[in-house]
Amino acid sequence: MPITDVTIVSRCSHCRHLISETTVKKDNMRLMVSDLVWCESCGAETPEVREVAGRQSALEAERASYPANPPVPDLSAAEYRRWRENRTAR
Ligand SMILES: [Zn+2]
Repeated sequence: MPITDVTIVSRCSHCRHLISETTVKKDNMRLMVSDLVWCESCGAETPEVREVAGRQSALEAERASYPANPPVPDLSAAEYRRWRENRTAR
């Protein structure tokens, strides 16, 4: 299933204080912004930085949906049988 929604985390560029979290459609994603936002932690308006939340887990979920590689792709059937016999003999 394609991922269409992404969570954008907005942070203070000075202290990394979390300012807001919004879910947007991937197509509408804007990471490059030059807005000033109010940071409670700094007590000042600071440039915000945006990043995609949970990017790593999203990538892993996508990778897990790919078909897995066969465990022994390079052996012929006969070699495979021999390999299995050797393996069970041990
Ligand atoms: Zn701050």
